[in-house]
Amino acid sequence: MSKKKKLALLCSSVVLSAGLISPVYAAPNGTNPGTPENQEYSISGFISHAELSKKLQQIEKSSSGLVDVEVAGYSNQGREIYTATVGTGDKVILLQSEIHGNEKTGTAALLNMLQQLGSNNSEEFQRIREEVTIVAMPMINPDATELNRRGNDLSWSEVEEDFPQLSGVEPSWNYYTYTNQYWDYASNPGFDVNRDFNPDLDYEPQAEDFPGTSSEPGWYITPEAQTVRDVYKGLMNEFGKVDVFVDLHHQGEYFVEGTDDKVTLSISGDFVPNPNSEEGDKYREYADTYNEEFSKQLNVAAYDALQVKGNSPFDNITLYPQNLDLPGTALGSFALNGSGAVLFEVTGQTQSYGQKKRGQLVKAVETGVYGIINGVATGEVYNIDASEYDDIPLTDRDQDYGF
Ligand SMILES: [Zn+2]
Repeated sequence: MSKKKKLALLCSSVVLSAGLISPVYAAPNGTNPGTPENQEYSISGFISHAELSKKLQQIEKSSSGLVDVEVAGYSNQGREIYTATVGTGDKVILLQSEIHGNEKTGTAALLNMLQQLGSNNSEEFQRIREEVTIVAMPMINPDATELNRRGNDLSWSEVEEDFPQLSGVEPSWNYYTYTNQYWDYASNPGFDVNRDFNPDLDYEPQAEDFPGTSSEPGWYITPEAQTVRDVYKGLMNEFGKVDVFVDLHHQGEYFVEGTDDKVTLSISGDFVPNPNSEEGDKYREYADTYNEEFSKQLNVAAYDALQVKGNSPFDNITLYPQNLDLPGTALGSFALNGSGAVLFEVTGQTQSYGQKKRGQLVKAVETGVYGIINGVATGEVYNIDASEYDDIPLTDRDQDYGF
């Protein structure tokens, strides 16, 4: 592992320099669902895993016991994956960021929010801490963060070592081994962790379920997905359910349907067909837990919070493409288990907007997530008319990349 770790660090510095000179990335067909086209990244303004560790310690210390930081698990390269918990309410909100290591505003937003949730004594924040338990998992794929890429840092032969029953099986469809100008998955392969989830939280990998497809569940073969699953199961055991799950991502640059306005942020509550519908028949066993209405209410709460702010850059909020079937995503799997689920997809061209825009995009994420938290804390979200979800503008987008 130490040899591999050295390689990882070497690759990291190469990718970092490439990032500073604005790479234009084009993935081979089908290898990289969800990665924005024309991706340009300066990552100088975003934090590393070492900085995350330090920052979380500081937040915990300065919160006088309000924020509790724990190591929930480790990435394949041995980096800590954290939970930061604040609040004592019986409604649980799980917030996750950077499952794709090149999608970074969510981590900055979560750290800002943890700082505030652990120190602000206004009535609003006291109520939040009384009514809800917030569990934040910033940067859950730190090996990918260090490489500034989508996939984690794990080879199929390591998977075979962990799961001998998979010996000789064709690797899963979300396994990257290609090389291009910027990313060398060939010598340092990895998986799209956000296809490794399975709605059966006790699922054990079986040879006949490989290589799989995007419309089939994942396998929990990556330590990063296993860690998030374990946190989720732990919260289910403690609280009965995880009321809300929010996953923070980035997308490419798109327009609001029928306009020339650039999208700031897309949101969604739709990741798998409703198990109560004909298309969702394969998910029938989750028909009683899946709660489409609540996911829609939560999305409207986020949308409304961003509308109240008014004016750019909080305008131009759209719905992410709908009618997906991605049960291997964390959102798809956890929605089937009964969590109200919300996807955030921040516009991707961070470098072309510069540092100021980065700050504004982080603020937009915070504003939307606070809309959700406040809606749950006050109970107002349960009174939202879910059909307002369908009034949120769509994204003008002829291609669906997944997320
Ligand atoms: Zn993503």
